[in-house]
Amino acid sequence: MSQLLLMLSLFSVSRTFTIRVFANFTPTEVTVSSGEGTHTIKASGNSILVDGKEESYYQAIGEKRYYLTAGDVKRSYAGGFTFFASGGELFIINYVPEQTYLASVVTSEMPDGGIEARKAQAILARTYAYKHMGNHDAGYELLDSQLSQVYRGLAADQGAVKAVEETEGLVLGYKGKVADIYYHSTCGGMTILPSDLWRGSKNEPYHRRVVDTLCSASPLYTWEDTFYLDTISQLLNLPSIPDSIHLVRDTAMLPAKGFVFFAPREIKFEYRTAVDAWDHRPKTRRFDIEIEGNLLLIHGHGYGHGVGMCQYGAMGMAKRGDNYRDILSHYFPGTQIMAVSRLGK
Ligand SMILES: [Zn+2]
Repeated sequence: MSQLLLMLSLFSVSRTFTIRVFANFTPTEVTVSSGEGTHTIKASGNSILVDGKEESYYQAIGEKRYYLTAGDVKRSYAGGFTFFASGGELFIINYVPEQTYLASVVTSEMPDGGIEARKAQAILARTYAYKHMGNHDAGYELLDSQLSQVYRGLAADQGAVKAVEETEGLVLGYKGKVADIYYHSTCGGMTILPSDLWRGSKNEPYHRRVVDTLCSASPLYTWEDTFYLDTISQLLNLPSIPDSIHLVRDTAMLPAKGFVFFAPREIKFEYRTAVDAWDHRPKTRRFDIEIEGNLLLIHGHGYGHGVGMCQYGAMGMAKRGDNYRDILSHYFPGTQIMAVSRLGK
C-alpha cells in the first residue's frame, strides 16, 4: 500500500450505513418527497408500483433531503434510498453517512443526560453498528427499530451531534475486535449477564453483573403493575383462580424464569408462555409478586433487558463528574476504546 493510500485509510474512519427504515411497522405504501418531486411507492408481489407504474426497484439519490410519509408517520432523511419489494413486503433502504446515523441514534436512545454520558452512548451506538452490520443479507445492514438501534432519520439534537463528533471513529474493543455490547434504560440496582436472560447466549469476559444504584433518578427505578387474578386465570386456562403464586428464579437480583400458580394444584409456566398469554410484558424481568384479594401486584426494578450499560446509570455517573471512559469501563470492565480503523470484526 502506498503511503498516501495508507494515510487515507487511517483517516477515512467514517462510512455509509444501509438501514432498513420504517422496519417496525413495514408499510406497503409510502410517499417520498424531495426537491425532485413527490412519488408514491407501493409493494406489489416482488415488484413495486412507482406512481402506478411497475418497476423492479426504485432509487432516490442526489437530493439534499427526503421526506417519507406512511400513514401518520412522516420523517426526513439525508443520503439516498432504494425501494424494492419481496413477497408483497416493501423494503425501504436508506444510505446514510455514519455521523448522521449515529447522531440520530444518540438522540433517540439517550435524549438527555450530559455530554459524557452521551459520548459513551455514541461509542456504544457505533460499536453496535460495526458489530452487527453483517447480520442481514437482504440488501441492508441494520434496522431502524429497537431490534437494532432506534433511528428516526434527521432528528438529531446539537448535543448528540457533538457527542458523535467528539468520539469520531471510536468503538469499544476487546483483544483487537469490536466488543459485543448491550445497553438498556434502567438496571434498577444491578446489571445482569446475557446468559441470565437469553438462553444459550455467550458471556464475554467484559460482560459482568455490575451493582449500580446511580440509576435511581430514573422514573422506572422502581415501578408497580397490577393485574386481575380472574383475568390471568382465564388467559392461562387455570382450573380456578390461583390462591398462591411464586416466581421461579435463582436469586432476588436475577430475572424471573417463570411462574408457579397453585390453582388448586401446582401449575408451572415459563416466563414467556405466561407473559405472552397475558398480552402484557412487565418492563423488566426483575420484579417481585404478591397477591392482594383479586389482584396480582408486581413490584419491579428498572426498565429494559438489564444487560450492559445502564443509560440512567451512565447519566448518574456523568452528573457526578465521571467521563465517558469511566462510564464504559464501569459497565464493560477490561474493554478498550479503540479506533475502528484498527480493529478486526
Ligand atoms: Zn442502573
